[in-house]
Amino acid sequence: MPIAGISRRTVLAAAGATAAVAATGLATAPAARAATPTLPDGTSKDKVLVVGMDGLRHDRIDAAKAPHLKSLMANGTYGRSLLYANPMAATSSGPGWSTISTGVWPDKHGVKDNTFTGKNYARYPGFLARLHQVRPELSLFAAVDWPELDTHGTVTPGADAKLVYNNDYAVNDLVIADITEDILRHQNPDVLFVYFGETDEIGHNHGAASPEYTAAIDVQDGYLGRLLTAIKARPSYATERWTVIVTTDHGHTDGGGHGGSSIEERRTFVLAQGPGIAAGARPIDTRLVDVAATVFHQLGITPAASWGLDGKPVQERSTDPFDSLHGSLTGRVDETGIPAGVLGFTRTAPSGWSVINNAMGTGGMTEWRGWSFATDEFWSRTQRDQSRELNVRARGVFAVADSDEWADKTFSGTYDSTLVTPAYGVSGATRVTLDFTTFYRQEGSQTAQIQAVFNGGTPTVVKSYTSDVISQPQSLDVAVPAGASSVSFRFRYTGSNNWYWVIDGVKVTAS
Ligand SMILES: [Zn+2]
Repeated sequence: MPIAGISRRTVLAAAGATAAVAATGLATAPAARAATPTLPDGTSKDKVLVVGMDGLRHDRIDAAKAPHLKSLMANGTYGRSLLYANPMAATSSGPGWSTISTGVWPDKHGVKDNTFTGKNYARYPGFLARLHQVRPELSLFAAVDWPELDTHGTVTPGADAKLVYNNDYAVNDLVIADITEDILRHQNPDVLFVYFGETDEIGHNHGAASPEYTAAIDVQDGYLGRLLTAIKARPSYATERWTVIVTTDHGHTDGGGHGGSSIEERRTFVLAQGPGIAAGARPIDTRLVDVAATVFHQLGITPAASWGLDGKPVQERSTDPFDSLHGSLTGRVDETGIPAGVLGFTRTAPSGWSVINNAMGTGGMTEWRGWSFATDEFWSRTQRDQSRELNVRARGVFAVADSDEWADKTFSGTYDSTLVTPAYGVSGATRVTLDFTTFYRQEGSQTAQIQAVFNGGTPTVVKSYTSDVISQPQSLDVAVPAGASSVSFRFRYTGSNNWYWVIDGVKVTAS
């Protein structure tokens, strides 16, 4: 229905069908417009609005008018990435919003689908719950019309006031926009998490390729615009430092639907504008877990290591050497399932790094003949549903040794390739620490070893993998021999039509 023409009676009737809940515990007023809750007066000049748009496939924003989303992209940082898929979690709203709210991946927050079975919000609470814990003086607001985000405790715990409506999105998204706008204009909230669901509903009913879908994006863009206007109209706006973050929980197929492992279903983004966040930036290392980390950062809160967050603020770039290859990535050579326009691999190592392939077999898929450097989209498009979608703790470009894909074209010999780091100075140090993330799938006689080489001498094995490690941070602490002045590490993978090994985020620290 046309938003401008929506009747007050319609809004009241629909909103009255569900409860608007004020955290004061007062009974709900029957009229939604009258139910604007009263928040405690805010205490922070740093303020954050998070707007969640369900099932918003970012590559369809271009086709919409969406002036406010496009303005945020021009004036903020826009990081696009892919989600996990099963068996880690479905590309569904339960896992998606849990990832956004908690700032950790499903293997930590435990939500794998919309049953929410296995949720572990006690250990990994949503960011509003965490803020309420560490800064109880903040004024916190949440509004959702997918009520599961309240009943399961995904988003609303910790909020000083919350709106919870049923999933009649065509009506209740507008109610949420109305009341949130009212709060922004007339009260003093510090942090808000506002959810809109109609994009997902229209995606299901008409498909993400439909004009109805881009129209739904425009409707939500209008709500976003009203909230942005309300922020700028605040009498105290000049003395406040607002950050606005827009994000989504999953994508959609062209025909409509999600939950599976297609690239279109896995598409997600974090879009943020605010103090210290670069205008027009398009980082390749942003992931969905970064929303919560950005909220904390913009409020000047340093997350404790014990929180176990997987995210980092959107303005922080990883120092990963592999990401420097992004501009030189090329398209497929022998692969057939990857669209020609997807530029996502190279076999040329970063400056200072090398790959030893003198024992490597011949033939096979060119892309994977020895260690390669690839993006999530390029690598996981090679073959769906072989768990490559679970590479969640890699960011941007990573190193991959994949004997399974290599063996998909006629080859001889075995896969035997060694990735070699630069030499790092260790003079005077007694320990050297190798930090990285790894994703390893074991099969058969496949081997994966990490070797240390001091002063260019004989490699010694410091770590072997013999069973699956599904995208985990690793930290190896190695003793520096007396008199050693340099160390280089080697990642050697051998196999023959087995699985794969991914390395990313390599950092070497001597102490
Ligand atoms: Zn959906």
